[in-house]
Amino acid sequence: SKNTGKNQVRFYDEELEQSERRRHQLEDELSQAITNEEFLLYYQPQVDAEGTNILKAEVLLRWQHPKHGIVNPDEFIPHLEEYGLIIPVGKWILEESCRQLKVWHNAGKSELCLSINVSANQFKHPDFIEFIEICLIKHQINGEQIELELTEGVAIHDIPSTIRKMDRLQELGIRIALDDFGTGYSSLSYLKHLPINTLKIDQSFVQGLPHDGYDAAIVETTMVMAHHLGLTVVAEGVENRVQLAFLKKQQCHLYQGFLFSQPLNVDHFSKLIL
Ligand code: C2E
Ligand code: CA
Ligand code: CA
Ligand code: CA
Repeated sequence: SKNTGKNQVRFYDEELEQSERRRHQLEDELSQAITNEEFLLYYQPQVDAEGTNILKAEVLLRWQHPKHGIVNPDEFIPHLEEYGLIIPVGKWILEESCRQLKVWHNAGKSELCLSINVSANQFKHPDFIEFIEICLIKHQINGEQIELELTEGVAIHDIPSTIRKMDRLQELGIRIALDDFGTGYSSLSYLKHLPINTLKIDQSFVQGLPHDGYDAAIVETTMVMAHHLGLTVVAEGVENRVQLAFLKKQQCHLYQGFLFSQPLNVDHFSKLIL
């Protein structure tokens, strides 16, 4: 009837209003998280085949929420992107990574490299390269000691400008890793066109090793191709010894996963490496 129709409209309005309110609340909370410095960095080791030497670590963002405790990035990074806040937070991540890396270098771990995730929006920002250059100089870090983890999303709109930026990064000595390799639609065409140094085999392919025939075939083929192309391969999500054994047989270069270590806060990671 006419009446229910009207009620439905009003009910819908209220719901919309409520979800709008929640949106604003979350946006406020995330803005405040920046002001109150509630973000922090965790570090997950990437080890060599012997499993002993920590050469590199991936930097992973966390939010120390005043009420909910440590929040994982899958829950808030999409919202940082949505509100444009990934730009200031991304700058903080780069700056804090360089600052902390210098602390570890000065403490004697002078060979350590950090691998830093960069979102597509961050990479596309016109100041991105300049910001990194200033960061390296300010913290006296060599480009060789930094790797940037990018996903396919970076080049979707403008391949030539992506290549220009990547070339400039490589001039600075910075290595470029293609993250979540194999999960996108055009991973292979990216390899052909972009100056990539490292492949990160996505954990979804590592999971089923060695018994899942598809995972095994995909990983084996990727490893052979990477060796031909002179690319470094990092396997992510290595959780057990049979996965490790399979990857070792394929001569994977670096291993990352719970088998070796969870992502660690700065104190725990310092204890591990120093
Ligand atoms: P990612 O770049 O693929 O990072 C790997 C994720 O796998 C991390 O989740 C890590 O904790 C998790 N992981 C590591 N080893 C294992 C394992 O053995 N088994 C399983 N099941 N998982 C493992 P995390 O830290 O929750 O990060 C999730 C995603 O959030 C990242 O995926 C990345 O896309 C994004 N992210 C994290 N930090 C940053 C950042 O600083 N900037 C940007 N733009 N994105 C970030
Ligand atoms: Ca990553
Ligand atoms: Ca990944
Ligand atoms: Ca992933």
